Amino acid sequence: MIKQARIFLKEVFGYEEFRPLQQEIIENVLNRRDTLVIMPTGGGKSLCYQIPALIFEGLTVVVSPLISLMKDQVEQLTQFGIGAVALNSAVSYSEYQHNIARIMRKEVKLVYLAPETLLMQKTLAMLSPKRVDCLTIDEAHCISEWGHDFRPEYRQIVEVRAHFPQAVCIALTATATPRVQQDIKDCLRFKTSNEFIASFNRKNLFLQIVRKTHPVKQTVEFLKKFSNQSGIIYCLARSQVDELTELLTNDGFSVKPYHAGLSDTERHRNQELFIRDDVQIMVATIAFGMGINKPNIRFILHYDLPKNIEGYYQQIGRAGRDGLRADCLLLFSYADIQKIKYFINQKEEKEQRIANIHLNALVGLAETDECRRIPLLRYFGERYSVPKCGMCDKCLSGEQPLVDVTIPAQKFLSCVKRTGEIFGAGHVIDVLRASKAEKVIKFSHDKLSTYGTGKEYSKQQWFYLSRQFLHKGLLSQDMEFGSLKLTPQAWEVMQGKEQVFGKLEEQHDDYAQSQEKEQAYDRALFEQLRQKRKELADKTNVPPYVIFPDNTLIEMATFFPQSQESLLQLHGVGSIKFEKYGHIFLELLCQYCQTHHIKEKSKQMKTFPSVPSERTKKHRHILIGEDYNSGKSIKELITDFAIKPNTIVNHLYTYIIEGYSLRSSDEFLTLSALSSEQRGVVFNTFDMLGTERLRPVFEALNEQVSYDELHLLRLYSLVEKQEKTVK
Ligand code: ADP
Ligand code: ZN
Repeated sequence: MIKQARIFLKEVFGYEEFRPLQQEIIENVLNRRDTLVIMPTGGGKSLCYQIPALIFEGLTVVVSPLISLMKDQVEQLTQFGIGAVALNSAVSYSEYQHNIARIMRKEVKLVYLAPETLLMQKTLAMLSPKRVDCLTIDEAHCISEWGHDFRPEYRQIVEVRAHFPQAVCIALTATATPRVQQDIKDCLRFKTSNEFIASFNRKNLFLQIVRKTHPVKQTVEFLKKFSNQSGIIYCLARSQVDELTELLTNDGFSVKPYHAGLSDTERHRNQELFIRDDVQIMVATIAFGMGINKPNIRFILHYDLPKNIEGYYQQIGRAGRDGLRADCLLLFSYADIQKIKYFINQKEEKEQRIANIHLNALVGLAETDECRRIPLLRYFGERYSVPKCGMCDKCLSGEQPLVDVTIPAQKFLSCVKRTGEIFGAGHVIDVLRASKAEKVIKFSHDKLSTYGTGKEYSKQQWFYLSRQFLHKGLLSQDMEFGSLKLTPQAWEVMQGKEQVFGKLEEQHDDYAQSQEKEQAYDRALFEQLRQKRKELADKTNVPPYVIFPDNTLIEMATFFPQSQESLLQLHGVGSIKFEKYGHIFLELLCQYCQTHHIKEKSKQMKTFPSVPSERTKKHRHILIGEDYNSGKSIKELITDFAIKPNTIVNHLYTYIIEGYSLRSSDEFLTLSALSSEQRGVVFNTFDMLGTERLRPVFEALNEQVSYDELHLLRLYSLVEKQEKTVK
């Protein structure tokens, strides 16, 4: 049966390969085992029930909460030549009758239903005598009260199953939170063996977070790189949306606003313009995005800070569903944190605490020194062990050599101490830089010995330094008031027992440019193909991506197919679509190639690079691991690779996790600032809680041992364990 599934994949959908887990899921459904699918947006969930639907003799009933999503799916399936209809409150009476008649005539493989429509007596009466082979529950998180989108009717779907005893059930969601996942399982009473949880890593999204300095200018610069491509700009407030829309419109960009303050009609109209490529950029509040299935969104710009990582992930997740590269830029500022804190402070006390923790995690993501994917995926309980993803600003910035910043650290920390550990960084910096600010004078801080001791660095440099001190665990910050306090580790630094390494300048790189090099295809041809697609789409009254996705057009502009055979080889060209549109595109292609004397290229010769391949990624951890094993000390590696001790430790950790072994050495212990007794406590905690995740260990030790120490000691303990098992 899986053979049949493969044939449908290529013949109907025009795709070469299954995406991760699709094949396993399809097999499981075909074997009539109830299945729960948890996959990020763009992972390819729809195919998991659409291919079985083609193979099953009877109907597949799909429950979906959003009318716009149903409409989109039915349009897409129709273009693939698959019989599909939707029944919901937006369907007119005559259309409804027409759809029912098609079901009766067995012209339909998939029926999309709103939950309340399915629960209606007349619907059940209509479907019961039919053979229903599969019940699909899309957006299954709607079943959970813990989710962001609870729908009470979803709970009753479980009972509907009694009407179709032979139907297998597949539930799908992109929800990443374990709490909701568990709730879905409990409600549906599925067996655990039939759960498929895909990685939440979206490899094709380029992640970048930069300081928000001149937001409008930064936005315009960013947008310039995406001419004729679709994207979303998220703002926190409606007023900001309106303001930015006007500004960008005046600048000549194709923009429309979207927020809850607009009328339903206007919102709907703007959304439709965006989906149909009549408008390129949507400036929106987070009200925009649900129910948008547009696969070719090429960028997401967060003009303001999202509320938490979950929101951020959901919003960037709307980009690049087609698997091609998409760019996500977040403009990050401390003023925005204050705005969010203001909202948080309006909440109840218990909620405030949770919201603050979430906000903290987001700040951690913004300020990380590591690959962005590490803290991002960690938030969803996933460990990302590749040291460099190659698709985030941190990974591409190269490892900047670190400098010794012990002296500025000592200055800053003692100033925090002298001012009583009740002020935020701004005030401390004012004192260090001998400011005459009112607040400084009022507290007589101009009389302190630390007053004016830090004039050698700019205000911006000091801010940057202070954040590094915070992340290195030298300071802790009150989440509500922003005041800084010293940690035990800070004392070690002040007493000169510990050195601090860091950076003096923030890097501002421009990564979106690497894009051009990555995708070498004929832009002029692509433009012509795009216009042709738009023309056809308008004629058929569907969004352009329903005719052919961008990938198909890019392949056309890469391989220049000029015959039926070679066109059918391309991504997204199934037999029905070929019949419908093949000759139109072939005509254009042949003409273009003739005029420009271009010969066809075989697709086999070159696979299309959407993401850097494994080969092009540097496996630095391997180099470092091998050097270490050849006898180099960690100190030597720090100089050789010009990276800080932490990073070496991380690389060696990855090395060992990937199954290589490392020679044992006491050097690890000399790098630790803890006493052997304290280290003993840490090792015992590892024994109890494991070394997989450090957070529980950190908490069990009352947050007294820094993460740097934990990373180091974890490595030591793994090396020792491995020694024992070898002997
Ligand atoms: P999800 O519902 O998980 O967000 P979709 O089912 O909408 O994702 O799929 C996202 C995009 O990926 C769609 O444009 C779809 O056609 C495409 N797609 C799905 N599976 C494959 C595959 N095996 N090969 C190529 N493209 C695929
Ligand atoms: Zn990265």
